[in-house]
Amino acid sequence: ASTPSSHFIKAIIDKDLAQGKHAHIVTRFPPEPNGFLHIGHAKSICLNFGLAESYAGSHCNLRFDDSNPAKEEQTYIDAIIRDVTWLGFSFGNTPCHASDYFETLYNLAVELIQKNLAYVCELSAEDIRAYRGTLTEPGKESPFRNRSVEENLDLFARMRQGEFEEGTHVLRAKIDMNSPNMNMRDPVIYRIIKTPHPRTGTTWCIYPMYDFAHCISDALEGITHSLCTLEFADHKPLYDWILDHVSVPCHPVQIEFARLNINYTVTSKRKLHELVREGLVDGWDDPRMPTLSGMRRRGFPPEAIRAFCERIGVSRKDSCVDMGVLESCVRDALNDTAPRTMAVLKPLKIVLTDYPNDQEEYFELPVHPKNPAMGTRKVPFCREIYIEKDDFLENPPKKFFRLAPGREVRLRGAYLVTCTQVIRDTTTGAIKEIHCTHDPASRGGDAPDGRKVKGTLHWVSARHALDIEVRLYDRMFSVPFPTADKGKDFKEFINPESLRILTGCKADPALAQGRPEQGFQFERQGFFCRDSRDNDQGMPVYNRTVTIRDSWAK
Ligand code: ATP
Ligand code: MG
Ligand code: MG
Repeated sequence: ASTPSSHFIKAIIDKDLAQGKHAHIVTRFPPEPNGFLHIGHAKSICLNFGLAESYAGSHCNLRFDDSNPAKEEQTYIDAIIRDVTWLGFSFGNTPCHASDYFETLYNLAVELIQKNLAYVCELSAEDIRAYRGTLTEPGKESPFRNRSVEENLDLFARMRQGEFEEGTHVLRAKIDMNSPNMNMRDPVIYRIIKTPHPRTGTTWCIYPMYDFAHCISDALEGITHSLCTLEFADHKPLYDWILDHVSVPCHPVQIEFARLNINYTVTSKRKLHELVREGLVDGWDDPRMPTLSGMRRRGFPPEAIRAFCERIGVSRKDSCVDMGVLESCVRDALNDTAPRTMAVLKPLKIVLTDYPNDQEEYFELPVHPKNPAMGTRKVPFCREIYIEKDDFLENPPKKFFRLAPGREVRLRGAYLVTCTQVIRDTTTGAIKEIHCTHDPASRGGDAPDGRKVKGTLHWVSARHALDIEVRLYDRMFSVPFPTADKGKDFKEFINPESLRILTGCKADPALAQGRPEQGFQFERQGFFCRDSRDNDQGMPVYNRTVTIRDSWAK
């Protein structure tokens, strides 16, 4: 039986190493810098970098597949480097780029032309598509297919010189217009794009297509195992055809695995672009986004994402992972590491009528209930404190063990208090504050006479409280498969409760020092971290990372 961390790709590598095919392995993660990385990319990152880590002497390249300047930007390149590093992986001193190989790629395209295996085609994009045929119909050869080698060399050189307009000329591999595999019907391998490139500027105006650049980049970097998602299985014959016909140092093996699908979100860059462009989220790093930067801003620890990728495994079968699995990895990681603190999100004031107004004291509570090594925290206390509005009911039902008239409850780590009076606003009649008495003998939270008190509430000292804004985040979509209904726009299914903003929350004053990405447990409320963006003015902002328990489980 396989352990969670062993999978079919490891089995292939083990065999290759045992047979002496390679001394070590080289993998790569090849993002196109046309958007931010998302949780699906994390699977590929963890797989590729993780394999390199687990085989001695091996390494993994971060390679930008930057061969389409019309869609690629430096901001995406920077974000990708930041995100891969944040996930905990390193890629040597510098990342690789397909653009590093533009000159070599050009020369190899010339080699194909010289071998009479590529030609310059002047059909329009539309005609190329029409000539390609369908799965049931053979393709039709381009009238430009039988140009002489000399003419092709000349035209390709002139494409490079910028003599032709975009869309007028492409270079195509000459393979087989009758192949049952559409990718083999004379695929385009170079096209004209006159947009400056983020790295090579205006040096080039012709750019290699993915299928041409990718396999050659792999070979030039000495990649041993080129791992990609299942939709590229159809491209494998082309990957191999190109490497078989150009002069490269090695021929990597392409292995496909199932992409990660996860419910209650979308993992398509195109759809994520749409959400950002239409302003439906606060940028690529909106804490509801499945992007690595969004998850970071939300407070997901990188270890949780790595544990998740380990837990879901690697296979060749398409499946959909429940969002609850990711959330539970986040909960597990934070539960072990997050300092405990108290914050009241919807405050209700309690006045301890028998506690002197000029008095205050500090309680020393553990930072983490199960990890004494994390030390203790000092929590201030005075005559007036806040509890959660929902923790008081004037007419409580049977199973309600929190505060109610005449009831005694425990203020976590402080005193047992008993509700003596409900004070109302004289004009509106709304509850203004609750008066209680406290039992001084119960300091620390337990009565010396051993009487049982069921309810324990979190609280914050009114005099010392830090005012904070809290953003309660929840799943981005309210249905598991927002893109399933083709008649509807996926954006119609955005969860209206995916962000609720609470102001005037009252928090432990120590939270003034919280840093972004540092997870805290607000006792009884969930895990939170300080927002990394909206924190420069006034009230600190805290984002809810996850609730303490799964509220979506059926
Ligand atoms: P998208 O479909 O979101 O546009 P992409 O595949 O076009 O993603 P790339 O930047 O080309 O984006 O992806 C880089 C690598 O990440 C590729 O090797 C790709 O196979 C892998 N990858 C992308 N999405 C997933 C996913 N959902 N699960 C696993 N791997 C993925
Ligand atoms: Mg891609
Ligand atoms: Mg894509």
